Amino acid sequence: MKERIRSDFHLALITLFAAITALGVTPFAIRRFLQGQPLTGIVDLAILLCIGAGAAYAWRTGRTAGAATFLAATYSIGCVAVAHIADFSGVLWVYPVLVANFLLNGRATSLLISTLAIVGIALSDTALPGLSTKLAFVATATVVSLFSFVFASRAQMQRLQLEAIALRDPLTGASNRRGMEVELRIAMTASLRSGQPLGLLVFDIDHFKSINDDFGHEAGDEVLVRVADVVRANTRTDDRFFRTGGEEFSVLLPGAGVDALREVAGKLRQAVEREVACRGRPVTISIGAAPFLPGESASDWLARADGAMYEAKHAGRNRTVLREGAQPPAQRAT
Ligand code: GH3
Ligand code: MG
Ligand code: MG
Repeated sequence: MKERIRSDFHLALITLFAAITALGVTPFAIRRFLQGQPLTGIVDLAILLCIGAGAAYAWRTGRTAGAATFLAATYSIGCVAVAHIADFSGVLWVYPVLVANFLLNGRATSLLISTLAIVGIALSDTALPGLSTKLAFVATATVVSLFSFVFASRAQMQRLQLEAIALRDPLTGASNRRGMEVELRIAMTASLRSGQPLGLLVFDIDHFKSINDDFGHEAGDEVLVRVADVVRANTRTDDRFFRTGGEEFSVLLPGAGVDALREVAGKLRQAVEREVACRGRPVTISIGAAPFLPGESASDWLARADGAMYEAKHAGRNRTVLREGAQPPAQRAT
């Protein structure tokens, strides 16, 4: 649970707002009933139930965007209802609700919900009698919305930038190991749902240490960048490319069965051998290939591809080994 809260910002926000709602609205709901305002008490109870249900839905399904919109709509409808049937308190609650709305939702959704909430409350003569009170409310609510909009947009932009930095290798521009773990899980789920095959290649540059030792670390870095460029030029845009370690890479190939995997591996290996060199010394790679087997875990699949790659190293390097089943023996691909 802690792990999900830490890794999913949206879910953490929904949980926080649900907890604040439970703590903040429950006393009001009880007071409304005690003060003989059952209608307002029922609205408070309905808000509590809807927010609780929305948070539970987000936890169960992981569909946080839909849950966030539902939460914002519930809060706003609740404020409008209280403003019309009770008193001024519906108006006061709209300020935190506007902030929550912009934090929870994208720009278009939050602008729409906020505008409807402000208009809905401004139309209430019970809570806002007279034109000047209505105008003051609309002006202050608009200013709060504007600040929330700017703050939420900037925070979201910075969060996306940080996420991109955290998942990318700065030298080659490929996704890093963390990025691979995320994408592997997404691709495995999609493959299981669609029945489409899914292939994985892992490869490691041969005798890379000697390139560093003989020509320097910078020359080694240039080779890493060149290899990455050649791989990108020889794969499709929906293939995913990762730098998983120092001179170890992998390529995730949606839609690639055993034959396609064999073909792409051969093409990549030959392209690197042909197009990458360091001061005249050709650079080669050893590849391990493994199709995804429905039912296996990501770590088992990766281990199978890794095992095939080490087998290619032991067999003499600059070759591909394809491991089709969960168990060896391996099959030589090229
Ligand atoms: P093998 O054919 O068995 O793969 O041998 P190798 O020499 O390629 O393998 P080894 O694992 O012994 O060496 C990997 C080297 O990669 C060691 C490390 O100094 C170097 N390395 C790791 N990261 C980087 C990097 O970012 N830049 C450079 N230039 N070298 C790196
Ligand atoms: Mg190596
Ligand atoms: Mg290595």
